[in-house]
Amino acid sequence: MKNVSTFQCPLCGFTGPEGFKLYYRGEVTLHRCRRCGFVGQFLTSASIAEDHQSWCSEKTLAASAGFLYPQMRRLHQDTIRRILRRKGSPRLLDVGCGDGHFLHWCRRAGIEAVGVEYNEAVAARAAATTGAPIIRGRYEKNLFGPKEFDVITFIQVLEHLPDPRAAVEAASHHLRGEGLIVIEVPSIRSPHFLAYGATGIKWFVRPPAGVIKWHVAYYSPRTLRRLAESAGFRTLQLVTGRWGCKYSGLLGMIGRLADPLLNLTRVGGIHYIGVKQGCCS
Ligand SMILES: [Zn+2]
Repeated sequence: MKNVSTFQCPLCGFTGPEGFKLYYRGEVTLHRCRRCGFVGQFLTSASIAEDHQSWCSEKTLAASAGFLYPQMRRLHQDTIRRILRRKGSPRLLDVGCGDGHFLHWCRRAGIEAVGVEYNEAVAARAAATTGAPIIRGRYEKNLFGPKEFDVITFIQVLEHLPDPRAAVEAASHHLRGEGLIVIEVPSIRSPHFLAYGATGIKWFVRPPAGVIKWHVAYYSPRTLRRLAESAGFRTLQLVTGRWGCKYSGLLGMIGRLADPLLNLTRVGGIHYIGVKQGCCS
């Protein structure tokens, strides 16, 4: 196992042998930064890059008809409605676009959208199914010029990145003045993790509902907000839960009733919108 003393918190920069507390050990090992509360696997960039290339094989893609996670449709459409309420006809970049599912709904809503995807097979699928321009590669500052986009989205992406601060700072560089950053991540304040935190019983976070091997970071509303604001964004909206649009039928009805409570207590997956600060752009 990697020596804890070599960890550096990607959120607050804290480092040191006593800086990180073991949070979970099972399928993966998670540590919690004692200074800012960020929870992560603290893997090397190289091992994560390898995972990103292998997480979805051509065989998996061939077996799936259409999009890999069609149950996300309502959530994507909700996100797009929230974007369009703030930006009329934006030029949008979707970072880590995966199979292009979110891009598909963006384009259906009339949004000019571009994707970036690191996994080669998945990027090819996204290009073929959406017709959108897809750039195959790692998202970083030199991928685009300054101020090229009105909106940059990270939909279920930041939990996969070893250096989320660099990604969010790159987004700030690529956004025009008053541009929006939109982030969605699973939360360490999900019912699974809250139950685990309260009891220490690992059963509550058993995969695939709780701990997910591919996720290197678990955000809370506080740590996500800190990440965005430290890169120069002002928080416009932070919503948690959204079970009403996540589920359909009876579960969806229960979700709509439960959502105000989930949001009040900051429980459930996080949706964040921030605006780029600064003038003269
Ligand atoms: Zn930290």
